[in-house]
Amino acid sequence: MAKDLSNLPAAKADGGPKTGPNRPILMGELSAAWFTAKMAEEQRPTVVEGQPFRPSKAGSCSQALLYKAEGVEPSDPPDMAAHWSFHMGQKVHDWFDEWAETSVPGMLLEHQYVTNYEGIGEFGGNIDAYHPEFKPAGSDKDPVSIAVELKSINGLGYQQVATQGPRESALLQGAINAWGVGADYLVIVNMGLQVMTENAGRKKGLSHFPEQRFALEWWYSRDEFVPLAEAELARIAQSIAGNGGRRPLGIPVMAEITNPSTGQWTELDDSGRTVNLGNTWTCGYCDYQSRCIEDVAAS
Ligand code: SF4
Repeated sequence: MAKDLSNLPAAKADGGPKTGPNRPILMGELSAAWFTAKMAEEQRPTVVEGQPFRPSKAGSCSQALLYKAEGVEPSDPPDMAAHWSFHMGQKVHDWFDEWAETSVPGMLLEHQYVTNYEGIGEFGGNIDAYHPEFKPAGSDKDPVSIAVELKSINGLGYQQVATQGPRESALLQGAINAWGVGADYLVIVNMGLQVMTENAGRKKGLSHFPEQRFALEWWYSRDEFVPLAEAELARIAQSIAGNGGRRPLGIPVMAEITNPSTGQWTELDDSGRTVNLGNTWTCGYCDYQSRCIEDVAAS
């Protein structure tokens, strides 16, 4: 007897791939089950109870930091696809932990610390890895303490950091963590979720070592990272005190977001005249965008 398959999507006449608005049947079920389980997982606790700021928020827009500090629920929380991306990133962290634990004696993973900064108060961080006495293999120099900031990154992002250096948000987060723990060096590691092809690696000057096509690192001394950490902590303190304005990273110093639905920013001079206009992509990825649009409209 023929089976009733009328609830399944019809094959395309030409046998080609079927795409369109229909929810995938198999992966729709699997991903929904995965997402339900993911959402049921316990939220990672903050290191200092009741303190909303954690270094992973470094580089966030001042207004988003204020919403967070005031306990406002995100109006646009990450969706399933965003959580999948976080999940992939977590897998990279898990692999790193496995290698680091077995290959680098003395490496402390998820090293926690608690510190204090005026205007923020006590806050704590989780450093992806910390080594109190790191000495590269074969080196005859004295050991140094290192704080490692590990970031997974998509293929396009990897191509960018390969030529431009690590993202500012990663650098600021890493700088605060390294400052918090008093490390001698901050090491930012970017691990690609996609391997750069040999040809692309050659074009970027990354053909000497194959690992550079999936892992890059940058080292910063205390002289370099401490000023970055202190400036960012001061900006965060100002933001959570309500004096930061609507200012994501990457817009001119005197500019503010005037239209959070498009990310448009406006820079005024002392007399209130517009001297510069531009757009940032940040608002489109913000967890508070709808709330921020409402607040701007009401102001
Ligand atoms: S929508 Fe834009 S201006 Fe508003 S909080 Fe988010 S990033 Fe800041």
